[in-house]
Amino acid sequence: MKKYFKWLISLIIAFTAILAFSIVFISFLPLPQLESVEAAEVSKFKTLDNFPTPKIENPELILGPAGEIFEFSTCNRGDLGFTIANAQIPAGAGPLPHIHHYTNEWFWTPEGNLELFQSASEYPDLNKPATNDQAGRTTLYTVDTSPNQVVYSPKYHVHGFVNTSNKTRPLTFVWIKDQTSPTYPLNDGGIREYFQEVGIPIKNIEKLPPITDESKKKFVTLAPKYGINQSNYFLKYASAVSGQPPVALANLTNDQDLTRIIDAINAYNQGDQSVKCF
Ligand code: ZN
Repeated sequence: MKKYFKWLISLIIAFTAILAFSIVFISFLPLPQLESVEAAEVSKFKTLDNFPTPKIENPELILGPAGEIFEFSTCNRGDLGFTIANAQIPAGAGPLPHIHHYTNEWFWTPEGNLELFQSASEYPDLNKPATNDQAGRTTLYTVDTSPNQVVYSPKYHVHGFVNTSNKTRPLTFVWIKDQTSPTYPLNDGGIREYFQEVGIPIKNIEKLPPITDESKKKFVTLAPKYGINQSNYFLKYASAVSGQPPVALANLTNDQDLTRIIDAINAYNQGDQSVKCF
């Protein structure tokens, strides 16, 4: 009995020692999941206090199919080509789910109040959009934006947004030409050319032109010419909506290209001749 008791004490001591060692060892192990989330939270483009606009005379004004007022400018610097639109989005308005093939896009939301949505799935074939009879519909993950937030949405993802507030809100769009884009006249991946063809030119901001059915139709039918798949009703591309994006999707950024864009605009505004904006 005494021998058995001694043996039991030894076993308890040994077990305690192993447990203590394991706790110390585990505490020194890296935590990759937690670290990557932390890295995303300190991403420097999570918010931007101000997004520069190229100082050009008479920027082009175009009315979108949902009543959006777009003010366009496009810049080229060497191989870099991008288009910016400072837009006013009416309450409840926004584009239906769509996919870009030749551009990568950022949204900057000065006042927030816009609910962006994006797919985790990618649709790289322009001839196979996210419909049931083609590449299959997708889940859209929503981001309820806060003021000055920057959200990156690269090519091939289905995306869009809606103004969830009861008043008109500003939104700045930035589209950078993707390396795979064919050549378009403005060297911007075709996005401004698309709006020029399908949108309605605004001559007088005080007197907006009516949005025609023809314009709404062209917005969808002519989209592939500019490397875009545009749905004409919400559930054409979407099978579900979720407020919990996968970590990889929530952490998407492209700070390198965004920095090149901001540098080019600032250089143009300071008179640098290597940048052309129009
Ligand atoms: Zn888009």
